[in-house]
Amino acid sequence: MGVDVGRPAVFLDRDGTLIEEAGYLDRLERLVFYPFTVDAVRALNQAGLAVVVVTNQAGVARGIFREAFVGEAHAHISERLARGGARVDAFYYCPHHPEASIEQYRIACDCRKPQPGMLRRAAADLQIDLSRSVVVGDRWHDLQAGRVVGARTLLVRTGYGRTEEAAPRPGVEADAIVDNLMEAASWILRAA
Ligand SMILES: [Mg+2]
Ligand SMILES: [Zn+2]
Repeated sequence: MGVDVGRPAVFLDRDGTLIEEAGYLDRLERLVFYPFTVDAVRALNQAGLAVVVVTNQAGVARGIFREAFVGEAHAHISERLARGGARVDAFYYCPHHPEASIEQYRIACDCRKPQPGMLRRAAADLQIDLSRSVVVGDRWHDLQAGRVVGARTLLVRTGYGRTEEAAPRPGVEADAIVDNLMEAASWILRAA
């Protein structure tokens, strides 16, 4: 093990955390920001934290939308954030599913959360110190990926968060459960 020189990051789940949960988001018209999305991301940017989106997009594997649409959605998110002076440093998505209807995506990959593959890839690409990072999501599987790599974890009550809060997952602890991404950003800035 070498000396750790990475910087801390905040890993954000996308649907139900950064933007509204929309079932399978398959059209830009259905992509809805929360009123606090831009402010929360900007606050994390200003604190010098890398902001990285990590999202399971099994809708690709299921043939609900094309993989190219994921990139279009992320470009749209980036544009809207930029207009408010905020930015996501990198987007990672998993298009796979072990029971995919589309064969090329039918694998038991290492990136579909709760697997930590996207976090590890981002850490290598962006020189991130995972042990000083935080994972924010509305599903226990988001937090599970964070626990595996030694990050802190926050569950938000948006998206599926309230349902998840009511059904604790043995062995998957949240460092805190907060109402939404804005509260998560406040928690992270206090902890930093
Ligand atoms: Mg989610
Ligand atoms: Zn994957």
